[in-house]
Amino acid sequence: MPGSVKVVVRPEASASYVRAISTGLGITLKHMVKPKKQTQQYPDEKWDLSRRLRGTHRMATHEDGRAKCVGCGLCPTVCPVNCIKLIPAEDENGERYAAVYEIDEFRCIFCGFCQEVCPVEAIHLGVHYENAEYSRERWVYDLERLTEFEHPFTALWDPFDPASE
Ligand code: SF4
Ligand code: SF4
Repeated sequence: MPGSVKVVVRPEASASYVRAISTGLGITLKHMVKPKKQTQQYPDEKWDLSRRLRGTHRMATHEDGRAKCVGCGLCPTVCPVNCIKLIPAEDENGERYAAVYEIDEFRCIFCGFCQEVCPVEAIHLGVHYENAEYSRERWVYDLERLTEFEHPFTALWDPFDPASE
């Protein structure tokens, strides 16, 4: 069955617009007395983020500032999008460390696998989302940048602790 067509009749030149103007003014008045909707004044006001937010990575450090990573290779192995670059090395005492450690945050899908597998709790996702950049290269975070961050580590969802307590 064909749809019906509504024919709109163009008003005559002598038609009164009083009713239309009154309706418009009525809507304006209604909005003047209605409680205002709140607009968040970002970036002066920030979101109250969940502790479980999986955002920007952070590398944990020892007291002397060294990165905790021992270059085991688990996180680049488990990363589903292959966005972690690791070149491990060994110091004079035979201790392993990451000579190069980079995460391409642009490619990362924030799954949290890297944090979950890390045997020394070195790499973490963080409660942080403000990482806009002007160039694609700046999205590759090196070890220096990852250790400089100070935002809180994420509380990954734990089925035995669903309330993150
Ligand atoms: S959060 Fe997931 S995708 Fe991102 S670096 Fe870690 S393992 Fe890779
Ligand atoms: S899993 Fe942890 S220790 Fe192993 S390479 Fe990744 S960050 Fe380093």
